[in-house]
Amino acid sequence: MSEDTRLQALRGAVRDVPDFPKPGIVFKDITPLLGDHGLLRSAVDLLAEAARAHRPERVVAVESRGFIFGSLVADRLGVGFAPVRKPGKLPHRSVRISYALEYGEDSLEIHEDAVRPGERVLVVDDVLATGGTARAAADLVRRIGGEVAAFAFLIELGFLGGRGRIGAGEVVALIRY
Ligand code: AMP
Repeated sequence: MSEDTRLQALRGAVRDVPDFPKPGIVFKDITPLLGDHGLLRSAVDLLAEAARAHRPERVVAVESRGFIFGSLVADRLGVGFAPVRKPGKLPHRSVRISYALEYGEDSLEIHEDAVRPGERVLVVDDVLATGGTARAAADLVRRIGGEVAAFAFLIELGFLGGRGRIGAGEVVALIRY
């Protein structure tokens, strides 16, 4: 099957849920895609193929939907995985970052030994929206000594300008709106 056909099939398996989790947001529900083994495999294949060019040595992803693709892509690339989590969830010594949301602020943490010095890291998430979450994950990686080689997303909501916010680094996105 061609790449275009596979991308069309993936796009067709993303369900729009209006007004979730609050009025005015159109939530991109990926559970139909996850539920189909062929589509899940296609998504991971295409993400890993595109990311491989950036020679990542580790994958970092943010809970919780980022973990689904992050760990599968890490396995496909043959590299390790490191989690970024909400405060208070990681058991070992961690570094924390706070970042602005549309309303208010949020924080994320990573273990201080999650990457080796200078290691090339691929930051993975399901959706790139405003870019705040991916930017925070990338900043955490740099703070503990890693190098952000690239970002990979299943979906990019281009109209929100997230690509501009995450700055340096290549961006892979399979489905763009
Ligand atoms: P961001 O605004 O890029 O920081 O996105 C915040 C997080 O919420 C990311 O991890 C996305 O996966 C998720 N997210 C944001 N907007 C949507 C949306 N419209 N549909 C599904 N997930 C979303």
